[in-house]
Amino acid sequence: MDYQKILEEISLEIKPLFGLGKVANYIPLLSKVNPNKFAMAITLLDGTQYKIGDSNEVFSIQSISKVFAFTLALESYGIKLYDRVGVEPSGDPFNSLIQLEYEKGIPRNPFINAGAIVITDTLLKSFKDDKTTLNKLLEFIRDISDNKNINYDSDIADSEMSFGYKNMALANLMKSFDNLYNEPIDVLKIYFKQCAISMNVKDLSRAMLYLVHNGSDPVTKKEFTSLRRIKRINSLMLTCGHYDASGEFAFHVGLPGKSGVGGGIVAVVPNILGISVYSPELNSHGNSLIGTKALELFTTKTGLSIF
Ligand code: GLN
Repeated sequence: MDYQKILEEISLEIKPLFGLGKVANYIPLLSKVNPNKFAMAITLLDGTQYKIGDSNEVFSIQSISKVFAFTLALESYGIKLYDRVGVEPSGDPFNSLIQLEYEKGIPRNPFINAGAIVITDTLLKSFKDDKTTLNKLLEFIRDISDNKNINYDSDIADSEMSFGYKNMALANLMKSFDNLYNEPIDVLKIYFKQCAISMNVKDLSRAMLYLVHNGSDPVTKKEFTSLRRIKRINSLMLTCGHYDASGEFAFHVGLPGKSGVGGGIVAVVPNILGISVYSPELNSHGNSLIGTKALELFTTKTGLSIF
């Protein structure tokens, strides 16, 4: 397969879509990113990479971090996690409060904000203090992307902290239902930093390899999780990775994927490759508009959807 040629075709075909979406603005610093950036990268099982566009540009991974935090929480806390967070799509926006009250503080899944806050709370319970928790997560992400330089952007974390009222409401509501071990503010301080981790599409497509390849890294041979858990994580990415547009993403793209409001998306072609795309203008569901289209073009041109 000529992946480079396919990436080149995609980067031309998405050009008319610039200007149709909107950069996230509820996190003040994110509203300042250049809306015209576009990058895409693929990493194959042997580590070979193909890339196009601004592939060195690091951006805020935001909710893509939920996949990594969930993997780490499963490893550190085990399946008791499923007592505290469900595995059903929510059908609601990523930061919705509605279901959380009538479902008694148990979030629908780990990839909406409420679910991810529970996951971060679990990590803090497992690793005891905020520094260790964040470091464990960063170490894990550096390991799976094979890049020791990955870090978070403290300005973006602070920017979200100062306007994160919805997330504070979610965390407080869950605390009131006794579904947080720690104080809401202590969990959110870590959650906002985790969302503010900066990576480029090369790092992100590389970071998908453990999900492509049975839980271990095919290049470094490091083991990160089990085959059984890979099935769980990938299926949740397919059914819940794009919030109330998860059905649409599965319909058009046909791959397990996860988006973030920073404009990044990651996706997994099991046993073949990891892929990531970046374009900061979002659709009305908070997913990268051009990124989604680029992935649809990719699976259409290559026939590499899981279906
Ligand atoms: N940090 C963002 C928030 O909590 C992440 C949301 C997202 O990427 N969809 O609102």
